[in-house]
Amino acid sequence: MASLRSKVELSTAAAEPMRAGESPVRTCGYLPADEQPFPGETIRTTYDFIARYAKRQPTANCLGWRPISAAGVAGDYVFHSYSKVNETALRLGSALVAGGLVKGDRVGVYGKNCPNWSMAQLACSSQGLVLVPLYDSLGPNAVEYVINHAEVKVVFSSVDNLPNFLAARPQCPSVTKVVVMESGDIPAAATTKQLPSVAAGEVVTMEALLATGATDAVASPSGWEDLFVIMYTSGTTGDPKGVTLQNRAFVSSVASALRFFKHFNIELNSSDTLLSFLPLAHIFAQQGEALIFCAGGSVAYYQGDVKLLLNDLEVAKPTVFAGVPRVFARFQQRIMETVETSGWLKRKLFDIAYSSVLASVQNATPRSGLWDTLIFNKVRAKLLPNCRLVITGSAPMSAQTNDFLNVCLKCPVLQGYGLTETVGGMCCTAPNFPTGTCGGPLPGAEVKLVDVPDMEYTAADKPCPRGEICVRGPFVTRSYYRNEEATAAAIDSDGFFATGDIGRWNEDGSLQIIDRKKNLFKLAQGEYVSPEALEQEYAKCKLVSQIWVYGSSFEATLLAVVVPDPIVAKAWAAKNAPDKVSAGLAAIAALPAFKKAVLEELKAMTVTAKFKRYEEIRDLLFETEVNDLGQGFTVENDLLTPTFKYKRPQLSKKYKASLEAMYASSK
Ligand code: AMP
Repeated sequence: MASLRSKVELSTAAAEPMRAGESPVRTCGYLPADEQPFPGETIRTTYDFIARYAKRQPTANCLGWRPISAAGVAGDYVFHSYSKVNETALRLGSALVAGGLVKGDRVGVYGKNCPNWSMAQLACSSQGLVLVPLYDSLGPNAVEYVINHAEVKVVFSSVDNLPNFLAARPQCPSVTKVVVMESGDIPAAATTKQLPSVAAGEVVTMEALLATGATDAVASPSGWEDLFVIMYTSGTTGDPKGVTLQNRAFVSSVASALRFFKHFNIELNSSDTLLSFLPLAHIFAQQGEALIFCAGGSVAYYQGDVKLLLNDLEVAKPTVFAGVPRVFARFQQRIMETVETSGWLKRKLFDIAYSSVLASVQNATPRSGLWDTLIFNKVRAKLLPNCRLVITGSAPMSAQTNDFLNVCLKCPVLQGYGLTETVGGMCCTAPNFPTGTCGGPLPGAEVKLVDVPDMEYTAADKPCPRGEICVRGPFVTRSYYRNEEATAAAIDSDGFFATGDIGRWNEDGSLQIIDRKKNLFKLAQGEYVSPEALEQEYAKCKLVSQIWVYGSSFEATLLAVVVPDPIVAKAWAAKNAPDKVSAGLAAIAALPAFKKAVLEELKAMTVTAKFKRYEEIRDLLFETEVNDLGQGFTVENDLLTPTFKYKRPQLSKKYKASLEAMYASSK
């Protein structure tokens, strides 16, 4: 039965394109762009979000963390109230100004998400200082690059990152002060004071800095068009680029998303809690927190270790969960592991229940109370008992996983699409939109597709226009910091920003990301291959956790490096090589029968995905050293960006010689 989900007009197209070689500009089909976001109020900055609720509900929970006992056990969440956050941010901000900073000066924050991370950010926002987030996973060289490029004057560093920062500091002449942040409460715990550099006066604790601020400090934020943050995109190639985002961009983006949710009866409010674990140096996490602050809700920080995420979830019981597809794929695996290891009858029952509820979800009809009572309420209770909104973004989520979560979690699972340059989500699905797409433009976004002739994507393609996604709107960046060349290449004279993503307008008006511009290479027979588009499909194979497609202009066929999915590989071994089940992933992957099974699955995918013959993977090698997320290409081994995008030059450096040897031996 066809899905009945798409009941609203996802996007509305203008009658004519702006120029030849483009699709007409599309906008949100049901919400006007220009509605006043905060009627009767002056909200210009993220600090204003906090100040607003410090007045309305001063004692309500704002920022929470889990104190760790002497025995190393994490306790229940403890929260700073809105008024405490407001007072501390103002005092900290005044201390920065007293230390010589003036409006527009840059302040770096380098550490894992914690209350003091956000406190530092709010302090900056309250005084018009520009935030420069640094990924916690950056090494000294990358830190040095960003700090020098942005001429950062003060750096807030976590205790753990201090050695890395101090290694970079001699090469960072602009830095005048280093402030050590504890992950828990202010005042700082004993650990900070024990750091030798603190004792020697090279750096100050947050507590010491706070003491120099005024207790009666007031806000002095910058203007609507002034810079709020410079976000350095992790960059899969070359030096990172500093995306400049004004207060206007940030506040408009939050207002647009809240209006969008409200339209679908998801009104965030002060009883909402978000678990903060995606890096705050990335726009998705920033946007998530800002949405919660703007609604007066609370943010509960993870302990700083993704391995403990399930435990943090159990204690925080968030009502809003924002994650990336990889995290949700793990949720799905966990649930399916439990199902698959239960008895035959339970498995059968799950299958029947799943098909029945899936049909209700897809057809927007009421779910069966019986199946919820018997099965899905229990699944939800284990994972996200209080959740009323799940948002996924940053990478594509398949319709299958999206539907699975919808069924098991009993709440809307929305997919957002956007970039740092658009303050995250510029398109989003809603509860009644088709899954596996990016939905339609959010209010305020103007989106068009522009021909990419090299890749044979054109706005004239029938039945669905295709091309590079270009966007304009109040939340779109105006420039890359101190990089006119990159700015001119990305933003045209009409103010449209070229995303580098290839999109397709589906017939129902939803946007689908189908490829990336530029990651193209030509095979020996002259056919262009777009590895990203192939990887997206091949990664749907059950035995595959990650895949990197390799080819060259000297060869006519493709090879790949595959990271097998450890759980599925183990299940394969249980059936096909029982003596290897507990021997580990490398031993399973070394079995010729396993390689054959993976190649067969990849081949079957070429049929499903309607790939051309030359897009088939002819041979592969395995990467079997995996982390807890089942990834062999990881942030730690520098093969992924902090937001899980492939670093292609690094992948090539690591595997090219072995792959070239495979080509040679096949001749
Ligand atoms: P970043 O600026 O690091 O957030 O990266 C933005 C890029 O992430 C986009 O240009 C897309 O390539 C990708 N991206 C974000 N959201 C999605 C999505 N829902 N589906 C597919 N790709 C996405």
